[in-house]
Amino acid sequence: MAFHNAHHHHLLHLTILLTTLTLTLSDDSTVMTQLATSLYNTPPTWTSSTNFCKWDGITCDSSNHVTSINLPDTSLAGTLPSTLNQLTQLQTLTLPRNSISGDLPSLSNLTLLQQITLDGNKFTSIPPDFFTGLINLQKFTISDNINLSPWTIPSTLDQNTNLITFQASNASITGSIPEIFDKLTNIQNLRLSYNNITGTLPRTFAGSQIQNLWVNNQRVGLSGTLDVLSSMTQLNQVWLQANSFTGPIPDLSNCTLLFDLQLRDNQLTGLVPESLVSLPKLVNVTLQNNMLQGPLPVFKSGVKNVIDRNSFCLPTPGPCDPQVMSLLEVAGAIGYPISLAQSWQGNDACQNWNFISCDSSRKNVTIVSFGRRGFSGFVSPAFANLTSLRSLLLNDNNLAGSIPEILTSFPNLQVIDVSNNNLSGPIPVFPPRVKFVHTGNLLLGQDVSGGPPRSGPGSVTTGGAKKGGSGSPGLVVGIVIGALVFVVIVLFVFFKCYVMKKNQNNGGGPVKDLETGKGKVKVSELKSQTSVDQTEMSVFEGGNVSISVQVLREATDNFSDKNVLGKGGFGVVYRGILPNGNRVAVKRMDPGVMGTKGLKEFQAEIAVLTKVRHRHLVALLGYCINGNERLLVYEYMPQGTLSQHLFEWREHKTKPLSWKQRVSIALDVGRGVEYLHSLAQQSFIHRDLKPSNILLGEDMRAKVADFGLVKNAPDGKYSLETRVAGTFGYLAPEYAATGRVTTKVDVYAFGVVLMELITGRKALDDTIPDDKSHLVTWFRRVLISKENIIKAIDQTLDTNDEETLESILKVAELAGHCTAREPYQRPDMGHAVNVLGPLVEQWKPSRPDEDDGYGGGQSMSVTQLLQQLQGGEGSSRMLDDSFDQTQSSSSGLGGTSGTTDGR
Ligand code: ATP
Ligand code: MG
Repeated sequence: MAFHNAHHHHLLHLTILLTTLTLTLSDDSTVMTQLATSLYNTPPTWTSSTNFCKWDGITCDSSNHVTSINLPDTSLAGTLPSTLNQLTQLQTLTLPRNSISGDLPSLSNLTLLQQITLDGNKFTSIPPDFFTGLINLQKFTISDNINLSPWTIPSTLDQNTNLITFQASNASITGSIPEIFDKLTNIQNLRLSYNNITGTLPRTFAGSQIQNLWVNNQRVGLSGTLDVLSSMTQLNQVWLQANSFTGPIPDLSNCTLLFDLQLRDNQLTGLVPESLVSLPKLVNVTLQNNMLQGPLPVFKSGVKNVIDRNSFCLPTPGPCDPQVMSLLEVAGAIGYPISLAQSWQGNDACQNWNFISCDSSRKNVTIVSFGRRGFSGFVSPAFANLTSLRSLLLNDNNLAGSIPEILTSFPNLQVIDVSNNNLSGPIPVFPPRVKFVHTGNLLLGQDVSGGPPRSGPGSVTTGGAKKGGSGSPGLVVGIVIGALVFVVIVLFVFFKCYVMKKNQNNGGGPVKDLETGKGKVKVSELKSQTSVDQTEMSVFEGGNVSISVQVLREATDNFSDKNVLGKGGFGVVYRGILPNGNRVAVKRMDPGVMGTKGLKEFQAEIAVLTKVRHRHLVALLGYCINGNERLLVYEYMPQGTLSQHLFEWREHKTKPLSWKQRVSIALDVGRGVEYLHSLAQQSFIHRDLKPSNILLGEDMRAKVADFGLVKNAPDGKYSLETRVAGTFGYLAPEYAATGRVTTKVDVYAFGVVLMELITGRKALDDTIPDDKSHLVTWFRRVLISKENIIKAIDQTLDTNDEETLESILKVAELAGHCTAREPYQRPDMGHAVNVLGPLVEQWKPSRPDEDDGYGGGQSMSVTQLLQQLQGGEGSSRMLDDSFDQTQSSSSGLGGTSGTTDGR
């Protein structure tokens, strides 16, 4: 119609329109309009009729670009628009203590942005690229956003090199703190309290400018040592409480600005260093609820300090007993391991200290038994202060360094076993009466230090290699001095190389590499092939542990009633046969038992449990997840539970267990639990040890079942209140009262099982009078006299035999010890094993191959394979066992089966 006539006119209009549009876009009004609509409770000035630069809390530059959004504490709700990162000139985004929710938009590439303050809101997620390109960011705070879905601190944060402050406490962070602090050279404040951060303190903290470090109260807890603190010289305030840090408090003498140090509720061990006590600025320090040892520290007046609930030798300041100090020095050389700190408390090393035995006066340490404990560090010369020492067992650890010469001067030493470590240096010469075992130390006797070569395998070759190497510095000097000397040295080196090569051809092995860094790697590789580290062995990587539900249906005849083996607190257990003919037990969890636990979490936990293998632990072979249903597949134990054989043998028409069988079962259980306890610190406590969780193989050898599962139960549902009914008789008093779980909870339950083995009575028996119904209470009263004990012994046992009676009395004493009221009064499992060992050996002299067998040959091929891989434990165990024997018979050492003399 009129279009053609007005063609040119219209075109002009369009151009003007487009220009205005572009202008509008290039200022920030679109984004600000979106912001105003997506937020609620905005200030009254935020209307479309007012220019956004005039809105409350908004600052613009001269060209109408927003530079700052600043609205703290204004009850803002709603969300932030995803277009926020188009505010190209934004420098400050300050919105703390509002109720803004929803996902945080990406702010990536806002290169001018310096401050983001978002604490106290209800944001639900942080996009992964949030920090990308924020090259001027100095301050980021997002603490107290409890609705955030779990996120990790991105390692790309190392590009935000201007960061001074990063605060994200109580903000759902998971994962570890990334190694980015070598790049974040300006960072001063790092606050990450109340999250679920795990892992260790990053190594790149070393040399950083951090003043204010808060990583306290993590859900599971950071672990590892505090060593890096010693090189963080700018520290003012350090909050590390309520984590799982281990090892000693490091030397803090360079942290002179430190005024507030919170270390309580960790697992710190060792002596409190003098450098902490003498820090010049310190005003506030907490150390309570750790396992700190040695003398009670005394802080300067005016320093507020809480230090209770540790393992100090005395409740009052003052020096510890010299023997205690020597042993602590020994522990210090291996990093004060937790396994020692737990029991090494008080001022008397002969009072239930783990791995320590004393003479009959109970005053002098005679045996230190550190074999196979996963210890690393070095052999302390302080051992030499223990002048009564007869046996020093350090075998099968990761000890490095040399064997202190001073150890050869022990007056009473009979055995020293350092086999299978990483020791180096000269081989000391002990007097002939001393049995000295040192095999399995590839570098021992190798002349690494440059001294004269000693006798020992391969030492001649190494000597040659060493001298060949030391020729090269001479070569450099030669060039400088002059041609003549040069020629002489070249000739010398040529000659030496020739000798060296010849030696190698004579079977010198890998020695050539020993001096280089590369060579070291090689050595440790070799070591892990020959004598594998125990801690590594316990956990096998890889392997498919997920089994399909079809396979399990077929295996159990569609979970047929006729295949029900029993029912427990978590569900029904079925007998099954896998397609390859292997027999299994399938535990079908009641729906909801695993509670709200996520699939991933369940899988991760099961993955760990399937890797724990020991000949006295029932192997968890795999699992199956099918909808809500969770199934666990165990190796099948043909003889069922200990409770069946102990309490229900009449119903099952079996013979009652003989005493021999009972002690042997007790020892098996002890070894299984001891092994659990020796795994990763604290995490493997059984918590539900009882006869129905002790299963028997065809040969009536026992294995412990169901470890790790109670931990997996949802809080609430299977927490103490509901579980008490089933397992009350086995609950240690402190566990029942406070829920505090240590390995001593298992020791207590083990003591109860021992009582049941002796009396044939259940831990709790409602069918008999009240004063006898609680086995522990009754039995501990019985323990007072031998006559009473004899009366309490299971009627089916023959006590006429003197030896049997003696054995029963020993076990009764041990049962009393294990059920002591206070956890610290109870021995550790290792002690129980040491007591029971000789009682079993009395009837069954140990044959090297016997103890290595895998219960009854009923186990599966996978299991057998894994067990074979795990082998090697037998040999060192034999050494321990032989010690048990010599201890009990107090005849000399030497000559017992299984020990290997290295010479
Ligand atoms: P809790 O739930 O506290 O462990 P529980 O041990 O009585 O109590 P389950 O572990 O569910 O319960 O076991 C139930 C029964 O199934 C056991 O009493 C035992 O008879 C049988 N059973 C369990 N595991 C196996 C197995 N690996 N081989 C043979 N029988 C088993
Ligand atoms: Mg069970």
